[in-house]
Amino acid sequence: MRYLEIVDIYERIEATTKRLEMTDFLVELFKKTPKEIVDKVIYLTQGKLYPDFVGIELGIAEKLAAKAISMTCGVDQEDVEKHLNEKGDLGLVAEQLTKSKRQATLFSKPLSVKGVYDTLEKVAKASGEGSMELKLRLLSGLLADAEPKEAKYILRTVTGKLRLGIADMTLLDALATAYTESKENRVLIERAYNLSSDLGDVAKTLAEKGPNGIKKYRVKVNRPIRMMLAQRLGVPEEILEKLGGEAACEWKYDGERVQIHKKGIEVTLFSRRLENITLQYPDACELAGKQLKAEEAIVEAECVAIDPETGELLPFQELMHRRRKYGIEEAKEKFPVSLYLFDVLYADGEDFTEKAYSERRKKLKKITRESERLKLAESLVTGDAKKIMQFFDKAVEAGCEGLILKSRSGTYQAGARGWLWIKLKRSYQSKIIEPIDVVIVGAFHGRGKRSGSYGALLGAVYDKEKDVFATICKIGSGFTDEDLKNLPSMLAPHAIKHMHARVLSEFKADVWFTPAAVIEIIGDELTLSPVHTCAYGVIREGSGIAVRFPRFTGRWRTDKAPEDATTVEEIVEMYRAQLKKIEEVQ
Ligand code: AMP
Repeated sequence: MRYLEIVDIYERIEATTKRLEMTDFLVELFKKTPKEIVDKVIYLTQGKLYPDFVGIELGIAEKLAAKAISMTCGVDQEDVEKHLNEKGDLGLVAEQLTKSKRQATLFSKPLSVKGVYDTLEKVAKASGEGSMELKLRLLSGLLADAEPKEAKYILRTVTGKLRLGIADMTLLDALATAYTESKENRVLIERAYNLSSDLGDVAKTLAEKGPNGIKKYRVKVNRPIRMMLAQRLGVPEEILEKLGGEAACEWKYDGERVQIHKKGIEVTLFSRRLENITLQYPDACELAGKQLKAEEAIVEAECVAIDPETGELLPFQELMHRRRKYGIEEAKEKFPVSLYLFDVLYADGEDFTEKAYSERRKKLKKITRESERLKLAESLVTGDAKKIMQFFDKAVEAGCEGLILKSRSGTYQAGARGWLWIKLKRSYQSKIIEPIDVVIVGAFHGRGKRSGSYGALLGAVYDKEKDVFATICKIGSGFTDEDLKNLPSMLAPHAIKHMHARVLSEFKADVWFTPAAVIEIIGDELTLSPVHTCAYGVIREGSGIAVRFPRFTGRWRTDKAPEDATTVEEIVEMYRAQLKKIEEVQ
């Protein structure tokens, strides 16, 4: 298969403003792809070579990439950089300069997908002495054979800037259509993906072995399971009703979620976004290695910063000190962490994802040797709303965000935000809505004091059913001067020419972004709005839901992918809960 065939589809995907068309293009791509390389095509389309959890990144520095262009096209490196400053996209520079080179080259051979993948793999894996020269040679070799538009995408891929904004769910839809007849298979494919977090492997199994192969997919240690997420509701009575009258209430610790994989003495940690963060927390690994009694296990915990003097819980922000590659030993002493275990998904050959919560909790207790630094999340089983609120207050007093109420009979729904876990979070003030996470999909230029930066950002929430981002507010306050200064450069990598195909907006933003960056905001209340598309027509015909007086809380939710932002469904629930509260007061 020629690389050019993929590139043609990328160009069409980039140009479309319709999500369904995007899916159709992907179906066309899979139908053309030989079975044995469908995994590679998937990874390349996502701008990577492996699933994220493998942790091998392509990103080579722009300077080195510019040098490769200069070598291949016979242009001074300074000129390449000058073009880069003008265009802001090394891919476009490569396309343009390759065009002029083309006329002069006669002996190039067409690039195959496998050839491009294998070379990029060598580039990614090259390390140590002489690796820069090797990377340069490999990249120039590719460019010498590349058509101009191939050069554009190769450059974007190696510099980590291929951002087509295709969601995993869109790829799953396309896979189901391309490889199976029945829609029901979509569920099976999604399940396999949720248990493995490896779309490439799922696609290859599906292409080669069909739906039966997919049915046999199993949980495996060191391959992260996509995490189960919680819905939210405002009052405990409603939660109890949803959960059948009784709930296992657990403290909602304010830290970073980790999925701990243990194999013998070896421990691996995966973040909420399924990145391998083992090296960041050697202390957590040591605790888990010593205190998990199972030989092999997959458990989940919240990793929380604690005060080294008192052992008290500290807020999430303190963990920022641990987000580093160097000086980890020192940081470990100064900013220690504790682990609060809340689930077990696998233990010594047994898959627990299909078992009930109460059984999982029992097993978790059995395989854990608890200590001050590693213990099970505080929990209380009750059907009494008053007791829940007392337990809630206790949690907040101890430094937690609130509670997560769990169905005792519920299974572990990998990758899903269902009603088996429901969070009850602390509000900042009673009238103000609790914080929500929005995706930045556009921005408006600032004026006066804010000229040169943005006056407001266009925030959206995720509509899971339609797989789109629907706008909910324009956020102009809560930013510090420092934030304002940095906003344009922070968001620049996501800028695109038109509204993204997965964004639903009635506003015409000055700048559009691929849905990527997630921020936390608070607001006064939710109101009906004719201009925002969130839950459009759900509550009232011709209206969506908006946040009134939204403000940035200062939290960039880098731990969240855009699809992990607050959902339209959650907003509708919040709106209804708010209505109820108002009625109660009146
Ligand atoms: P949110 O990030 O607001 O959607 O809340 C869900 C997050 O709460 C999870 O991803 C965990 O990181 C965190 N969390 C803290 N304590 C618990 C707990 N006991 N059970 C489940 N999740 C918890």
